[in-house]
Amino acid sequence: MTGGRLIVFSGPSGAGKDSVLEEYFKTEHKGVWKSVSYTTRPARENERDGIDYNFISVDEFEDNIRNGNVLEYTKYGLNYYGTPKAPVDEHLKKGEIVILKIEVNGAANIKKIYPDSVAVFITPPSVEVLEKRLRSRGTESEEDISRRLEIALKELENKKNYDHVIINDKLEDAVNDLDRIVRSYQ
Ligand code: 5GP
Repeated sequence: MTGGRLIVFSGPSGAGKDSVLEEYFKTEHKGVWKSVSYTTRPARENERDGIDYNFISVDEFEDNIRNGNVLEYTKYGLNYYGTPKAPVDEHLKKGEIVILKIEVNGAANIKKIYPDSVAVFITPPSVEVLEKRLRSRGTESEEDISRRLEIALKELENKKNYDHVIINDKLEDAVNDLDRIVRSYQ
């Protein structure tokens, strides 16, 4: 039994999940909490441990899986990503909206565990824009960008399984769309 509501925010790398959430949380939203995932990926220069991700080693990650500390996890590219279970349960119990920012396999798994969760897909206006965004970020190697693009094309096919779709053309519009969706479940 959960009091709150889980909102899964998913879509391909480069669609703008991070930018939209960052902008969204610049304004205070009472009763809305974003989960902080575990990852074994090295931190990017601007990322803070415990805020953007909990950066952990592969050993620690595997321990967490074994001990039942993760709600769902996936291997994306060369790294593990997973949602810590306890804080999500805790915030849901308080009746809050919990936002998970995860890739599409994780999103599908969450729908199985929490059938009343809300799945929101964010998509770039076109594949060309997606590629441009991935490159302009300048944080990944060419090899990593190719890998991300390949995954992204597959992820885009999942759009139809979602409750809501946000087209991220103008950031401000996408943020307003997310805000409207979240409010409709509060
Ligand atoms: P990035 O390396 O760009 O931060 O993340 C790569 C992908 O993994 C993104 O699509 C991101 O949303 C996803 N991701 C981040 N945390 C989790 C998680 O806890 N579980 C799952 N399944 N995917 C995650």
